[in-house]
Amino acid sequence: MIFENIKNINVDEPATWKGKIFLTFDVEWCSDEVLSSVLDILEKYSLRATLFVTHETELLPRMRANENLELGIHPNFNFLLDGDSRQGGNVLEVVEYYSEIVPEAISFRSHSLTQSSKISTLMTEKGFLYECNNYVPSSSGIELSPYRHANGEMIRVPHFWEDDLHCLNKESWDTDLYLANQGIKVFDFHPILVFLNCMDINEFETVKHHSNNIEALRQNINTERFGVGDFLSALITGKMS
Ligand SMILES: [Zn+2]
Repeated sequence: MIFENIKNINVDEPATWKGKIFLTFDVEWCSDEVLSSVLDILEKYSLRATLFVTHETELLPRMRANENLELGIHPNFNFLLDGDSRQGGNVLEVVEYYSEIVPEAISFRSHSLTQSSKISTLMTEKGFLYECNNYVPSSSGIELSPYRHANGEMIRVPHFWEDDLHCLNKESWDTDLYLANQGIKVFDFHPILVFLNCMDINEFETVKHHSNNIEALRQNINTERFGVGDFLSALITGKMS
């Protein structure tokens, strides 16, 4: 399979996305050790992937040095919705908070998939070209493709698989099922769920507070059942074991 970056999608040229795999990662709740373990995998197999960055990290230079990796941003508008201005008092300030961390980003996915026409228009004005906020599960049977937002400039790139929602809904782990889909194949991972090989989102909730304690996380890696880490490996290697 061919792995591709979100930034290389051209809606007018289906060959830029059809039959390709888009690995995307939202990097919240993620210590450098955990993020590093995922970068090790991406580097080992020379995979193209898109990482939606949430915070400053010493790993940014490592990611930027790898031309296979695209860095986008993962703005969290929830604080704003709760009347909490810690990352900015309005939408523009929140966007600028993240853009300062990754000034080169042209792709974004909001935490909690928060979206509105107002955000899309503002992001377009800030130079963003790709919005990845639409989750339509593979189980819907809907064949997805990237499309232009009503403003004509922003390209919306829907995803049909997301690790936390997959674990919540207890959908099939059979990668062939997803790879047979004729629509665009965008997978949304969280590095910590890959690291833990999570298969039950309730189990993750019980260890989430350990996110900066690598030893505690190691003790909670799922080795018994097929999980998110196994699923990523299966996508990469084509083997389900
Ligand atoms: Zn998120």
